[in-house]
Amino acid sequence: MKLLDEILQYNKKFVAEEKYKEFETTKFPNKKLVILTCMDTRLIELLPKAMNVGNGDVKIVKNAGALVTHPFGSIMRSLLVAVYQLKAKEVLVIGHYDCGMSGMKADDVIENMYDRGIKKETIDTLNYSGINVNEWLKGFENVHESVSHSVNVIKNHPLLPNDIPVHGLVIDPKTGKLDLIVNGYED
Ligand SMILES: [Zn+2]
Repeated sequence: MKLLDEILQYNKKFVAEEKYKEFETTKFPNKKLVILTCMDTRLIELLPKAMNVGNGDVKIVKNAGALVTHPFGSIMRSLLVAVYQLKAKEVLVIGHYDCGMSGMKADDVIENMYDRGIKKETIDTLNYSGINVNEWLKGFENVHESVSHSVNVIKNHPLLPNDIPVHGLVIDPKTGKLDLIVNGYED
């Protein structure tokens, strides 16, 4: 059976057996918190459990590396929506050790694109059109620095209210241990 069929089949049963009942909550986060973290598979359950966070407690925004690469991109917009429309009063950026984005080289990604049939001319055309593909694809060197950077971009965003603390942490994807990088209450 193909993966999608497997998921849909399971879903039918899930709904029929009313397994959703234990997850019922509202769209407003009980802890008035929005978290930006990485899409890493190890964090799906570990991160909320390690923070005593359950369904309905927080908004979680995820991408590769927990990065805010553009101050007017969709990540920042999501954080602002959480604050203005969904009553979040604090922001937490949580990077993690052993991240796929750590030390990721744009050239390696582009090599993989070539292997999968993307033409070199396509990359050239994008570069000539003013899109710096290498810059867009590159990861980060140090997770502490990348978390601090994301915290700074969020904290200094012209559309974020001044009274919103923005914290930065790094989680161990094996033990769930959190290291505090930026305490947003101390600003
Ligand atoms: Zn990651």
